[in-house]
Amino acid sequence: MTFKPVTHAEAYETFEGAVKIELEKATNKFKEFNSTHEAHSIILEEFEEWWDKVKDKDAHAMDEIDELVQMGAMVFRAFIDCYANRAGSKTGER
Ligand SMILES: [Mg+2]
Repeated sequence: MTFKPVTHAEAYETFEGAVKIELEKATNKFKEFNSTHEAHSIILEEFEEWWDKVKDKDAHAMDEIDELVQMGAMVFRAFIDCYANRAGSKTGER
């Protein structure tokens, strides 16, 4: 299978849209992160799932992209849940 070349702007828009959909699904399904430690664990889990797909010779690029989207959504979630309203707080308060 070949991919049609896209511009950076098109790729950004596609990824951003997919992350927004994934973030909405995750927000409806799971409680907010209680801490940066929980966010770290979930992001790391998504990172490892992406890396497992990269190393899997039978995986399709779309499988890898799906995991990247999930990781992106969890990074957004960490920002929203752990930082968006706490910019002035100290690390130990999150
Ligand atoms: Mg995943």
